[in-house]
Amino acid sequence: MNLKFLGTGGVLGLPIWNCDCEVCQSKNPKDKRLRPSLLVQINGKNILIDFGPDLRTQLLKYKIRKLDYALLTHAHGDHMNGYAELSRQKELILEAPAPVMKEFFERLGSSKKWLKTRNPSIKINNFKKKTLCNVEIDSVELEHKKDYGGHIDCCGYVFKSKNFSFAYLSDYSKIVEKEKVKNLDLIISDGAGFEKSKTGHMGVKGSIEIYKELKPQRMILTHLKHDKTHKFLTEYIKKFGNIEIGYDRMEIKANE
Ligand SMILES: [Zn+2]
Ligand SMILES: [Zn+2]
Ligand SMILES: [Zn+2]
Repeated sequence: MNLKFLGTGGVLGLPIWNCDCEVCQSKNPKDKRLRPSLLVQINGKNILIDFGPDLRTQLLKYKIRKLDYALLTHAHGDHMNGYAELSRQKELILEAPAPVMKEFFERLGSSKKWLKTRNPSIKINNFKKKTLCNVEIDSVELEHKKDYGGHIDCCGYVFKSKNFSFAYLSDYSKIVEKEKVKNLDLIISDGAGFEKSKTGHMGVKGSIEIYKELKPQRMILTHLKHDKTHKFLTEYIKKFGNIEIGYDRMEIKANE
């Protein structure tokens, strides 16, 4: 299993347009972040998690020529607005749990017809737990963005093979199906903001609490904002254990 972070920024990426703050002006390449997305490679199969507005840039930048699956976590723009790129992949399987898919189609509106017309071979399914090349893939129900009064159906994904297991939980304020993410080698967790935010994000401090509670072997934070630099957060977080601040291009290779 090979994991590649195609994007580790938040809703506006980093640097943010028209922002003169320290983080947005940073010269450190690790402070330059595209919208959140992860590529998981299993035995030659490419599984994309989320397809935000930077998808075209990401596919070109990392020379990705084929996608087998596209899994969606939730229907926020920073995770789904690159859907047009998916029209370029024949036989692509696009999946999300039924409630997420319903919300995705509502937000897609008439573009759903556009996508299906442009790519008649695309297969759109409600996600169900599956095994792909001996790797078990399941969704994990999350709570996200309740503080605005609204609630969006949101999930993470957990991958388990004989030798390696990880969960991708990019946007959440609560893990509903907590039993699914216990005893994992790696949790990729929501680092949107230093403090736990009122907009449905754990943030750095909230994810540290999750690390202490669930005790994965390793944690990597993604979906970073412009309130702290990569350097500051890396220094801050290392005293809590094996937690790292993710960055675009970061790769993890694990034996299946
Ligand atoms: Zn900024
Ligand atoms: Zn979100
Ligand atoms: Zn997001």
